[in-house]
Amino acid sequence: MARILVLGGTDLANAFVTALRVAHPDLEIVLSLAGRTRNPKLPDCVIRTGGFGGTEGLAAYLREEGITALVDATHPYAAQISANAAKAASETGTPSLHLVRPAWEQASGDNWHHAQDYEEAARHLDALSQTHPLTVFLTVGRQELKPFHSLMNCTHVARSVEQPDAAELPPGARVVLARGPFREEHEMAFLKDNAIDVIVSKNSGGTATYGKILAARSLRMPVVMVARPPLPEGEIVGYVESALTWVERIL
Ligand code: NAP
Repeated sequence: MARILVLGGTDLANAFVTALRVAHPDLEIVLSLAGRTRNPKLPDCVIRTGGFGGTEGLAAYLREEGITALVDATHPYAAQISANAAKAASETGTPSLHLVRPAWEQASGDNWHHAQDYEEAARHLDALSQTHPLTVFLTVGRQELKPFHSLMNCTHVARSVEQPDAAELPPGARVVLARGPFREEHEMAFLKDNAIDVIVSKNSGGTATYGKILAARSLRMPVVMVARPPLPEGEIVGYVESALTWVERIL
């Protein structure tokens, strides 16, 4: 029986697994999670949890488990696992695909400040807060907050699925625990209620977290947009349907 390993941790991976089960009930699908989130939302398939032990560990897993094909449907900012997946697939001759949502495009009315990384995002905030204090909505994930710790004239509101450790948070930051999707009306009310002046965001793509971008557009609010890390080489698709077509081709 053909076995597909899907690297997940995203809604897109879950949607792909669900669609693949319907299209190929005879396939064995293994969904792999890093194990960072407690009580993750999961589709109905075999689940494995935890790191593989780098590229070598993943290559060994592909061989030992007789994996027919690998679909990397991790988050666009999960650069390490995507790089490992590309190398392990190439080393073992396993057909592989990156399934990643297309990035959001800047549209009329958007006031985006582009940053290559979180350090540059913090420098943008520093510049924007020179003349007046800012309340910043940090939506970058709890492991990416360090560069924002030393901003003198900013107060932070950090939204996270899980409570960050105190050491991860910028001094004085307020935490809002919530799991998306977040619609535009919700985000509009959130930005107003919390007197937010500027948003820091990843370019995640998709609709689940696009509400804040739409709300910022309506409010003419600046968004510091952190660029995606480059994807490793290999075949890339942006939608579940295209990934299903790829599976048809390689089976
Ligand atoms: P990362 O930096 O690219 O990966 C770090 C290490 O975590 C990898 O080397 C691997 O450990 C392990 N790992 C990551 N994803 C895995 C998976 N699906 N299955 C098994 N092991 C995995 O990843 P990250 O940015 O910390 O993200 C961790 C997970 O959260 C990913 O699954 C990602 O899809 C999800 N996520 C990330 C973000 C984000 O903004 N980064 C947002 C939403 C969801 P080994 O080297 O030991 O194999």
